[in-house]
Amino acid sequence: MSSETDQQSKYAWSLINRATPPKRPAAERVGDFKEIYSEFDEATAREQAARCIQCPEALCMTGCPLANRIPEWMALTAQGRFLEAAELSRATSNLPEICSRVCPQEKLCEGACILNGRADPIAIGAIERFINEFAFAHGGLDATPAPPNGRKVAIIGSGPGGLACADELARLGYGVTIFEAQAVPGGLLVNGIPAFKLEKHIVERRIDLLVRRGVEFRLNVRVGWDVSLAGLREKYDAVFLGIGAQKPKPLDVPGAELSGIVDALPLLIQKNVASPLMAGVPIGVRGRRVAVLGGGDTAMDCLRTALRDGAQEAVCLYRRDLANMPGSRKEYANALEEGAQFRFLTNPVALLGDAAGRVTAVRCVRMELGAPDASGRRSPRAVPGSEFDLPADLVVVAYGFDPVPFPPGSDLAQTATDKWGGFKTDENLMTSLPGVFAGGDSVRGPSLVVHAVRDARRAAQGIHRYLAGKPA
Ligand SMILES: Cc1cc2nc3c(=O)[nH]c(=O)nc-3n(C[C@H](O)[C@H](O)[C@H](O)COP(=O)(O)OP(=O)(O)OC[C@H]3O[C@@H](n4cnc5c(N)ncnc54)[C@H](O)[C@@H]3O)c2cc1C
Ligand code: SF4
Repeated sequence: MSSETDQQSKYAWSLINRATPPKRPAAERVGDFKEIYSEFDEATAREQAARCIQCPEALCMTGCPLANRIPEWMALTAQGRFLEAAELSRATSNLPEICSRVCPQEKLCEGACILNGRADPIAIGAIERFINEFAFAHGGLDATPAPPNGRKVAIIGSGPGGLACADELARLGYGVTIFEAQAVPGGLLVNGIPAFKLEKHIVERRIDLLVRRGVEFRLNVRVGWDVSLAGLREKYDAVFLGIGAQKPKPLDVPGAELSGIVDALPLLIQKNVASPLMAGVPIGVRGRRVAVLGGGDTAMDCLRTALRDGAQEAVCLYRRDLANMPGSRKEYANALEEGAQFRFLTNPVALLGDAAGRVTAVRCVRMELGAPDASGRRSPRAVPGSEFDLPADLVVVAYGFDPVPFPPGSDLAQTATDKWGGFKTDENLMTSLPGVFAGGDSVRGPSLVVHAVRDARRAAQGIHRYLAGKPA
């Protein structure tokens, strides 16, 4: 770059406003489950990337859990070298086309961008999506399997953790087999995150690529039940546990046994995914007043799913305020646009029903915030005498998730866990069982896709180091 161009690019951020990718109007998008954003065109991607001021110590890289080499791929994108930019983005991320869609960028890379305070941050997520979609569309991804190194690794679970670990190990020449309990691979990417945030063919495309790189998928196999971990440890040189944490936290209030109260995942799966999973009893949403309990990403997804499925209203009940709500601000804004209602500082204390045992209302108490708790968030406390009833015909519980318990006596149950029930791991992400590694939600608790990818990459390196020291 000439020094003149360099100078221009250093100030481009003050001349070019941040753009966001085209977003469908709310009235249109509540009529389907398709993604709400589309992509930048080439000219906009180049212009937006040119806003990056190329800080020598890039804060965005510190904000990204994968330490993505953002300024470098911004420079390449600004020059129109999209395939090279995408290749660089893949050097630190196994699922960039997915993270760019689902990461809460405002809390991660974009939240850390040095431009905040002076101007709007660089549109990092949208540019990451553009370059990686460009690479898929222009044959920029190599599916040739790596030469085999003679070692085999079993991966349990095909969520983002399992997929990223498989990708890393397959590139190093390991023979990788993924064991997945469900009939459809992808974990929460398919069976949790709604299609309006991440269309399912995007996940299928990534899985196809892994298959072409030699990764084997064995579906409908529940390790610990159908096959034992001990059996896998005999057949494979190492094991990675990426089994997530999908047991819903219970609703512990009077009336929880009424009909018309459902957990979040069955609702999301039934309404979003054309899949044989969890067909179960159809959950009737159309024309109903839906109350969603909780304030995380799952709650936001349930509100927006209910509205797409014809709910008369969808109301979120959350015991803290907006500032202390864990869900993504971007998705909160999208939910508001689509007609979701939010009642902050409101805690459900009982569910009321009719003579037929069907829920009719949520009894709530108003809350106020006290001092910050151990997590740094201010603790809510009830305001005496503030109870009120909110009419509801369907109540969706989105209070988070715990690990699914293993059958007593199973070898998985013998793996050391922490107080919450997550696998305990060392600095290489190896569990208490030699050669068995773990990462993602099953270690850290419900978290983010990008964190599962980071753990998986670390665990793959841990497995590689562990096996390097052992005779073949
Ligand atoms: C509704 C919802 C919305 C979300 N939205 C976002 C978002 O917008 N952005 C974001 O970054 N994160 C989001 N998350 C969080 C994110 O999806 C998870 O943090 C991430 O998927 C965890 O990845 P994982 O690989 O650890 O586990 P999972 O994705 O849970 O995958 C675990 C897999 O292991 C399989 N499995 C479990 N036990 C066994 C067994 N015994 N044998 C064989 N297979 C087994 C399961 O069937 C599953 O397929 C959301 C989560 C939910 C529930
Ligand atoms: S992986 Fe997530 S945090 Fe990292 S650059 Fe991409 S969108 Fe930002």
